[in-house]
Amino acid sequence: MLNTTFDSPGEIDAVIFDYNGVIGLQPTMPMWCGLTELAGWQADEVERFQSVFWSAREPYDSGEFDDADFWSAVLGHHPEPRLLTRLRAVDTALWTRTDDRVVALLHRARRAGLPMVLLSNAPHPVSDALDASDWRGVLTDALYSARLGLNKPHPDTYRKALAATGVHDPGRVLFVDDRADNCHAAARLGLRVLHYTGSPADIEERLGPPAPNRIP
Ligand SMILES: [Mg+2]
Repeated sequence: MLNTTFDSPGEIDAVIFDYNGVIGLQPTMPMWCGLTELAGWQADEVERFQSVFWSAREPYDSGEFDDADFWSAVLGHHPEPRLLTRLRAVDTALWTRTDDRVVALLHRARRAGLPMVLLSNAPHPVSDALDASDWRGVLTDALYSARLGLNKPHPDTYRKALAATGVHDPGRVLFVDDRADNCHAAARLGLRVLHYTGSPADIEERLGPPAPNRIP
């Protein structure tokens, strides 16, 4: 089974980070309840709302669905424009809070000269919000599924992220993600893998000391 010891620590030249569940915090239950009620469901229907929400999310993440397609699928009817704007804003707010400990780690790795690329399954509004965040400049590049037209774990998403690191050898690049299926797909392409379970120390351990050929 894949876990944090899936492969052994070793020197790396770049990192590919997942966003949600690694850099980004998972939404709280009050946030889910707020979105549930905004969508016209009762607060105690949040689990059923989440099920419908996730059932329509893959085509939204991949850019196949636009905002109206996604929310029409979730609501069962086409939302009027003001509601659609509000749903989009509240949904985006669910996915844009960050773990300060991981952001601090990103800054340290950046100072050590490590190239870092974001590879996130995210619809266009979330992609735009993440690109506008204050920590985004720490990363070398950011690839979002809606812009790629593909979701992880499609192998081409990893190939594009690897190319964005500027490192040719996938065995010198660490991929960090909180989903096992995404990690397995990355490992099949030869990337080193950390299945993240919420402890920033696990990332720090895998980054290791700065390589001598990096510019501090
Ligand atoms: Mg994730």
